[in-house]
Amino acid sequence: MNDSFPQLRKDPVIDRWTLIAPERAARPTEIEDPGHLAHHTACPFCEGHEAETPHEVLAVRTPGSPTDGPGWRVRVVPNRFPAARPDAGPVRSPHDLLVAEPGVGVHEVVIEAPHHEASISALPVEHVRDVFAVYRDRLALHGADRRLRHVQVFKNHGAPAGASVEHVHSQILATGRIPLEIEAELDRAATYHAPHGDCVYCDLLDRELAAGERIVLESEHVVAFAAWAGRFPYETWVLPRRHAASYERLSNAELTDLAGVMRTVLRRLSAVAGDPAYNYVLHTTAAEPFHWHWEILPRLTGIAGYELATGCYLNPLPPEEAAERLRKRG
Ligand SMILES: [Zn+2]
Ligand SMILES: [Zn+2]
Ligand SMILES: [Zn+2]
Repeated sequence: MNDSFPQLRKDPVIDRWTLIAPERAARPTEIEDPGHLAHHTACPFCEGHEAETPHEVLAVRTPGSPTDGPGWRVRVVPNRFPAARPDAGPVRSPHDLLVAEPGVGVHEVVIEAPHHEASISALPVEHVRDVFAVYRDRLALHGADRRLRHVQVFKNHGAPAGASVEHVHSQILATGRIPLEIEAELDRAATYHAPHGDCVYCDLLDRELAAGERIVLESEHVVAFAAWAGRFPYETWVLPRRHAASYERLSNAELTDLAGVMRTVLRRLSAVAGDPAYNYVLHTTAAEPFHWHWEILPRLTGIAGYELATGCYLNPLPPEEAAERLRKRG
């Protein structure tokens, strides 16, 4: 394989970057085999199989348990099939319209439990808290790396959401470019902030709390509501009440609350929609003005021709009705 991969290529016309990452082609597709549940003894993410993953870079462990051995609750390892890597080689841009740069970055897997469990919402809330604390720790580390401009934490749950391994896990992919969707949120937050110093997300939270009809769940520090213009049925956003651009600033009290709210929303989603595939994604940045938040994106409807052509989604479930259904499953 050419040493210059992975690489970021910019769309010749708009500011959309694509990661060209041939190593991804070798990743496992166990989830396409319907018999996989019966054969999970071969799962590389299960406790006792630590030698089958790259060396851990962080683990929440029982004191005294050996690195890369059993005794962990959450374990972070480099992705064996990275979409970006710290040592990505030099790349040539052959023309002003054909711009490429090295796909420098970090791609990690967060293995969320030692036993073979498929769903994070099945874990005890203290365990979910450990997972969301690990995200905070990794963000703090990668956020300090000057080569990286965006750190994306995301989960793919279920094959329609892009999972290729069933064992409960999420991913962290940090890159040297700010992706289009993130740039749009940052730009809009800055434009909204400029005249009066207001945060668009704080104002949105106030409006949603006053209206009430899209609220799914409230706690002392965190609010979950159905997104006004949700792209998918049951799309839910989870925001802290306290304004903060960066998820790294999450307090321990907020962390406890967040774990409880995310777990409850995911359990209710599973109950009302029959354990659908979903993604959850974190939007966070180091610089103000911004307001970190999670977006839960159930994959009950596909991304088809119209969505790909336009970036406009067709959502058959009104968000107000989605919120009502999610509220009822207490
Ligand atoms: Zn497993
Ligand atoms: Zn805010
Ligand atoms: Zn967002």
